[in-house]
Amino acid sequence: MTYPLPTPQNTARAAPKERTTMTTSTDTPGTPHLRHPDGRRVRPTGGQTRVLPVETPAQLCERLPLTYHAAHTVMTARHDAVRILDGRDDRLLVIVGPCSVHDRAAALDYASRLRDAAAALADDLLVVMRVYVEKPRTCLGWPGLVGDPGLDGGADLGRGLAEARSLMLDIAESGLPVGCEWVNPVTPAYLSDVVAWGSVGARTAASQVHRDLASGLPMPVGVKNGTDGSVQVAVDAVRAAAAPHTFLGASGAGPVSVLRTSGNPDCHVVLRGGADGPNYGAAHVRQAAELLATAGLPARVLVDASHGNSGKQHERQHAVAEDLAVRIADGDTTVRGLLLESFLVPGRQDAGAGRQLVFGQSVTDACIGWSGTAQLLRELAGAARARRASCPRPRRAAADPGSAVLGTTPLMERT
Ligand code: PEP
Ligand code: MN
Repeated sequence: MTYPLPTPQNTARAAPKERTTMTTSTDTPGTPHLRHPDGRRVRPTGGQTRVLPVETPAQLCERLPLTYHAAHTVMTARHDAVRILDGRDDRLLVIVGPCSVHDRAAALDYASRLRDAAAALADDLLVVMRVYVEKPRTCLGWPGLVGDPGLDGGADLGRGLAEARSLMLDIAESGLPVGCEWVNPVTPAYLSDVVAWGSVGARTAASQVHRDLASGLPMPVGVKNGTDGSVQVAVDAVRAAAAPHTFLGASGAGPVSVLRTSGNPDCHVVLRGGADGPNYGAAHVRQAAELLATAGLPARVLVDASHGNSGKQHERQHAVAEDLAVRIADGDTTVRGLLLESFLVPGRQDAGAGRQLVFGQSVTDACIGWSGTAQLLRELAGAARARRASCPRPRRAAADPGSAVLGTTPLMERT
């Protein structure tokens, strides 16, 4: 089959005398102007094919199934997070961990420390570990564990998806729930059954694709304010995602399908600061609550102590979180929780092929270190206790995912 090819000649205003044609099945190396308009910027891989097959979500989920214990962690944490967001559980929701995970051993080391801290503070905090496996970039950079698990530009996404799922499963299996940002709209089909809390980031809050996606995700989803500081865009996203949507997406079995969602009532705004400065202060939180009320949404937010709220200076997260702890202890109930960027070793480092990396240090945004994190978690727990004492709200009920639907992934012990 041949198609007319647009060339300078046949697209010139004067009618072309001759038309060049090309087949749809071959690239034409060295003659970029002869490329077909159906997507020839998808680069040939290995010189042979330009599209690489990858395991379907169903195949990966069968190979790395959700275990009973991991499913219990996920369902309990989703249930409790929704209760905190709804004001029916007076603990704080704390999403804490590295900006991105790049090294399984370091992530598991961090997870075991965080799990112990979370268990000790469970009366006052619901702790979810950031296991961010996809990174949106302002311009260019490492795309995260899914996009480039070798940190060398090899971009083996099949391996990345499997490594991400395996890591998330092991952490959830240990009893610590995991959270992540959803960047590529196909990724949740591979991972969402293991994730207790999700995020739509500052760069995608306005994206229809991500709003559609959030409307069908099975976990509460925090939507960041825009990088320009706009909170309205996140409020609009929360409202949009609460409604049902119908769109093209990947089903578990793999083929592109029409997906119909029910709408996600558990989406919420995350204040992360922006180009015009931080927005964690009392006045900003009040303004956000007003925007939410105007949209007919509940006055509840999470606050990200990092990114625009720390000016990307990781140590400033301490000051942000401590300021919030004081306000929460004084009775603020709009702030339902916090996000912290934290890893074993403070700061950040550059990744790259052949580089010797510091164990447990971020390769994306700079993080606070473990000892500072443990101290902050204790302070936040103290703030939740003080708030409870000063303005009693419903105490948390025993975790009971009850009859909640466990999804389609088979629950089975991993062997
Ligand atoms: C992040 O959480 O690392 C991140 C990229 O956040 P944001 O979307 O707020 O920039
Ligand atoms: Mn970050």
